[in-house]
Amino acid sequence: MTALPETKYGIDYMPTDVPGPKARALVGRDSHVMAPMGRVYPLVIEHAAGCEVWDVDGHRYLDVNAGIAVLAAGHCHPRLVEVGQAQLTRFTHMAGTDFYNEPMIKAAEKLVSLMPGGAGWQVFFSNSGTEAVEASIKLARYVTGRQNIIAFYGAFHGRSYGSLSLTASKPRQRKGCFPLVPGSFHAFYPNPYRPPLGSDPERVAETCLSFIEQTLFATTCPPEEVAAIVIESIQGEGGYIVPAPGFMRSLRELCDRHGILLICDEVQSGVGRTGKMWGFEHEGIVPDIVASAKGLGGGLPIGAMIARTELASKWQPGSHGNTYGGNGLTCAVTHELLCMVEEELIDNAAHVGLHLLGRLEELQLRFPQLGCVRGRGLMIGVEFIDPTSGDPDHDLAEAVMIEAFRKGLLVLTCGPSTVRFCPPLTLTIEQADEAAERFALAIEACVAR
Ligand code: PLP
Repeated sequence: MTALPETKYGIDYMPTDVPGPKARALVGRDSHVMAPMGRVYPLVIEHAAGCEVWDVDGHRYLDVNAGIAVLAAGHCHPRLVEVGQAQLTRFTHMAGTDFYNEPMIKAAEKLVSLMPGGAGWQVFFSNSGTEAVEASIKLARYVTGRQNIIAFYGAFHGRSYGSLSLTASKPRQRKGCFPLVPGSFHAFYPNPYRPPLGSDPERVAETCLSFIEQTLFATTCPPEEVAAIVIESIQGEGGYIVPAPGFMRSLRELCDRHGILLICDEVQSGVGRTGKMWGFEHEGIVPDIVASAKGLGGGLPIGAMIARTELASKWQPGSHGNTYGGNGLTCAVTHELLCMVEEELIDNAAHVGLHLLGRLEELQLRFPQLGCVRGRGLMIGVEFIDPTSGDPDHDLAEAVMIEAFRKGLLVLTCGPSTVRFCPPLTLTIEQADEAAERFALAIEACVAR
């Protein structure tokens, strides 16, 4: 484990005081595992249930990270366990792009029923969000015959070459990987808290849209050669940023004017997380292609590209495929998960999310270091700042994340200085209160240093 330097808050980024002897021993044996991401803190999970995790030494943690916004129904939900166990004894895999199987068909039917209009869409199953984005890029190029794709600064769409060429949240994600895919352009995400291009805070949406039309289209990127614009309906890894009102609608209109496809990357914000099935529903728009993953599998690896049928039907046999997509086990669990999302999880995310947002906003009154609390449903970000300058305080966000771990709360940072809350969508009001209280203790400990 490489120790990083002490921060101004006096916390070693990679503490060596692993919670207990069993965890310490396992961390010590980790050297055969490649860790190109580095590890954030030494959590060694033993078992978990709902929103709670226990480590190998028996310490309990409240999990408001859910394995990076994945466990939509919480850990080991009995409904998913039952369906998964039954499917494991029936069959697991039969190459869904070559053959048919009922779990895959049912998962696709359910997913389409949860799309706008409930019909007129087709699903391509992949194994991850990255692959769902790759499939989206390929389909957009294939059907439009155009090469270029526009994404946004701050975006995260994956780390394979196509998706990495759109990812633009941290230079270290691209360092050493150039050249990337030609024809990838970036525009400014309409961040209302930190308006790009010196924009008037009231005109963030207009400023960001006009950059695409007046700068990109007018100088480097002819609109008639743009296949698609790819956008997250809430920017995830970039800092849990909710776009300025009206931007997505104007973007939809701009795409329509120029025959450009609109791809919504709902990998982090979809499947009920924001209190609606898809984040774009808050914006009153309908995209042409949607990329989904994370919450979709309830913890099993699955992704999906969902495209309008008139686009998807243009693909010829052999245009795209994979080995594991449509896997019987993952699709059976996904179908059950989607039923739960529809029956209860969307409403719970909206209800408990509003409560948690309120509890975190209250903390702003106590701690001026909390520059902005924002989000929708159970996708909430708390941006840490230096209260004197208003600049992002990266060190404080990292310190609070690690201190929260020591206080039994699992969170993760994103963007330059944001701590994200993306718990299971089963989170209760009591658990939301517990999360806010433990978070406050962590902040208190860090700012007192
Ligand atoms: N798109 C978004 C918005 C994401 O947040 C992520 C992962 O964090 C991805 C794509 C890539 O998904 P995966 O890690 O499943 O490949």
